[in-house]
Amino acid sequence: MISPITLTQELIRFDTINPPGNEALCARHLGPILEAAGFETQYIGMGDNRENLIARIGGGGGKLPLAFTGHVDVVPLGALPWSVEAFGGAIADGKLYGRGSSDMKSGVAAFVSAAVKLAPRLGGTPGVVLVITAGEELGCVGAELMRGRGMLPPAGALIVGEPTANRLLGGHKGNLWLEATAKGVTAHGSMPEQGVNAVYKAARAVLALANLDFTHDGHPALGRPTLNVGWLHGGLNTNSVPDEARFGIDVRLVPGSDPARLMERFEKAAAGEVTFEVMGTSAPVWTDPSHPWIVDLTEIVQSVTGEDGPIGGATYFTDAGALKPGMGNPPAVILGPGEPVQAHQTDEYCLVSRVEQGEAIYTKAIAQWCGL
Ligand SMILES: [Zn+2]
Repeated sequence: MISPITLTQELIRFDTINPPGNEALCARHLGPILEAAGFETQYIGMGDNRENLIARIGGGGGKLPLAFTGHVDVVPLGALPWSVEAFGGAIADGKLYGRGSSDMKSGVAAFVSAAVKLAPRLGGTPGVVLVITAGEELGCVGAELMRGRGMLPPAGALIVGEPTANRLLGGHKGNLWLEATAKGVTAHGSMPEQGVNAVYKAARAVLALANLDFTHDGHPALGRPTLNVGWLHGGLNTNSVPDEARFGIDVRLVPGSDPARLMERFEKAAAGEVTFEVMGTSAPVWTDPSHPWIVDLTEIVQSVTGEDGPIGGATYFTDAGALKPGMGNPPAVILGPGEPVQAHQTDEYCLVSRVEQGEAIYTKAIAQWCGL
């Protein structure tokens, strides 16, 4: 009998640090488990030993399937030494240790386990679709690739199993990543009046952007948009006037944020000191808590965890930003058994009890969706 705990341990034992990823190790471990339970599987390759996996079962009856998604790549171990084996999956005091335990192999294991156990009853129901992605940690590469190729199946609703400690989140912020370039005129450092200093231009633009006020751009659950200048490079040496400076800007969007209007505000604030280039963007994801499916899901979560509370949102983005538009814009939530504060930490762990609860929540969610 499949167990979400054992499956989490098995997934942790594959080193899927991204880069390079090697996610095919996990995809090819999960695929046969799903096939044996009656799922149809499809592997979508994206380079050396890197694969996404889409698995489906059931379908029909005029209602689209319930979709689950999770990524199997993990972040590097970091500079600090680990006191446990990072790819061991050891359990002690109710904690299951390893890189990716919380973010988010436990989430994948919980929905795979729930779906496999219910599989014999899913024929002739709306069914379930699992989208197990590669390359999430470096910009949702696998999800974007499948969306770009039109390979994503339509879904009636989407659960993202990222770590929320089994709290239901109604969505997350989107992003708008920019690079800005200031151009100047170089000159000898002893004669700065002969040149135009690009570092000064960039510095003025950075401060103008940092002072932008997003007070009136807020969303009731996701809060305000934010802006952070993450890096700034300019000049080559001490005794020259620098003729170029560049900096990177991380803007986080909320529903209602209009990237084109924001760009106009940035241009105005920077007053011609820099030019902007868009490096990447994803839309915010939000489903209103009054949506009937969210109301049902809220009850399910409460029946398993006993916890109640307002439905919040996450500041970070997930694969849902790419998957939701590629799957027909279904309502989407973030709900997973990992511990959010453990993501990317040294000695990362998840709680065994929470993973078992996660499987129970997912089981009830499938049963509710498919009318079991
Ligand atoms: Zn994650």
